[in-house]
Amino acid sequence: MNREDRVLIAGGGPVGLFAALLLGREGIPVRLFDENETIREDPRAATTHPGTLEILDSAGLVDDMARVGLVAPIFQFWDRPTGRLVAEFDHALLKNDTPYPFVIQCEQFKTARLILDRLRELPNVEVFFDRRVTDVRQTEHDVTITVETPGGPVEHRGLYLIGADGGRSIVRKKSGIPFEGFTWEERFIVLTTPFDFHASKGYSYRSYFADPDEWCNCFKVSANGPPGLWRTVYPTDPKATDDELMSDRAVQARLRKFFPSGNDYEIVHRNLYTTHQRVAKTFRAGRVLLAGDAAHVNNPIGGMGLNGGLQDAGNLVEKLLEVLLNGGPDALLDLYDLQRRTVSSEFVQQQSIANKKRLEERDPDKRNKNLDELGQIASDPVRARNFLLGSAMLASQRRAAALTLEDVKRPQ
Ligand SMILES: Cc1cc2nc3c(=O)[nH]c(=O)nc-3n(C[C@H](O)[C@H](O)[C@H](O)COP(=O)(O)OP(=O)(O)OC[C@H]3O[C@@H](n4cnc5c(N)ncnc54)[C@H](O)[C@@H]3O)c2cc1C
Repeated sequence: MNREDRVLIAGGGPVGLFAALLLGREGIPVRLFDENETIREDPRAATTHPGTLEILDSAGLVDDMARVGLVAPIFQFWDRPTGRLVAEFDHALLKNDTPYPFVIQCEQFKTARLILDRLRELPNVEVFFDRRVTDVRQTEHDVTITVETPGGPVEHRGLYLIGADGGRSIVRKKSGIPFEGFTWEERFIVLTTPFDFHASKGYSYRSYFADPDEWCNCFKVSANGPPGLWRTVYPTDPKATDDELMSDRAVQARLRKFFPSGNDYEIVHRNLYTTHQRVAKTFRAGRVLLAGDAAHVNNPIGGMGLNGGLQDAGNLVEKLLEVLLNGGPDALLDLYDLQRRTVSSEFVQQQSIANKKRLEERDPDKRNKNLDELGQIASDPVRARNFLLGSAMLASQRRAAALTLEDVKRPQ
């Protein structure tokens, strides 16, 4: 292909980088821009579900992710006030559904680095850090972006632009695409500690704690380990200031209240996040295609945001390759929009909101009913498998695959 027929990508998070890899290894010229100087090490996604591992493995990434991360087949739900283990799910129940009956806990910056290493070997892929995309315009034939450089703005032209520039996506905004949904009033705080919750309390590498006062997600990452680190995530008081939430006294009090201990916890990271539930009105505007957080954002309970983004990248690149290399119909890109937007709304939004509600429910009757129901599901292998198909994001992949070009033609 002519270099001018390149695909442009805004954003070098895991989603943009993965799309670049899938395109680049098929010989497509790609130019990717990220505004950061390098890949950031912030403690965000780690849980990578079977439905996503299947796609990542098409690029040979799973073994490396398991090597630098942790394989976690089990997850648990606990009732924090009573200390009761409500439910335990084992992904082994999915052994006939996927070659990957487990999740891999791999910090997203490690996944991004593994992808970047592979990109460095592809001469047709150019990755530029410290370059902010500031404008987008398109014609019937091409798309042009403006990129800030130390010497002033520079324009780059391509056949398509993938907007993988995160939740505040400039590509989405410049393309006039509404980002529909809402923002949670409470922010989430992430406290990371080396304290070993498995050895001392028996918690699995992914444990969810229901509590009417203050729920918690607790999960292990390998960090530079072994022994690794544990991240704990909680909601915060919407009226509290950053200082009130982040002071040593406040974070110790939070951890010691939730996981009683006579000693202070060692805390290696503390981070506050504003959390949204939003889906772009369309994932396609002409030659501009949105993927990852640029297209959808959700709360992190259940670990679905990045997974959804990587699944977008796999789906989108499959269609772009068909259009670019095999003369496939342009409507395939509408099918990308339909498939991925449908599962973002029907699965990821609904499940992540339901996950949060289950953990935070205050009404004692509803709470007990929810937790008892979960325990019953976990103890019935048929129901547990169905539950896992949803949480492992395999059901959403199947739903997307069931939508065809015929559905694109029908008004939705
Ligand atoms: C506490 C927490 C825990 C989470 N846990 C999980 C989990 O376990 N599993 C999961 O699946 N998800 C999880 N998520 C969600 C996950 O972090 C995001 O969904 C994921 O980062 C999205 O990847 P992305 O590549 O689309 O966007 P990002 O990672 O946000 O990357 C976007 C990139 O675009 C760049 N950029 C932005 N604007 C521009 C511009 N104008 N020009 C050039 N570059 C630009 C940025 O520098 C950035 O590198 C979690 C989130 C949080 C906050």
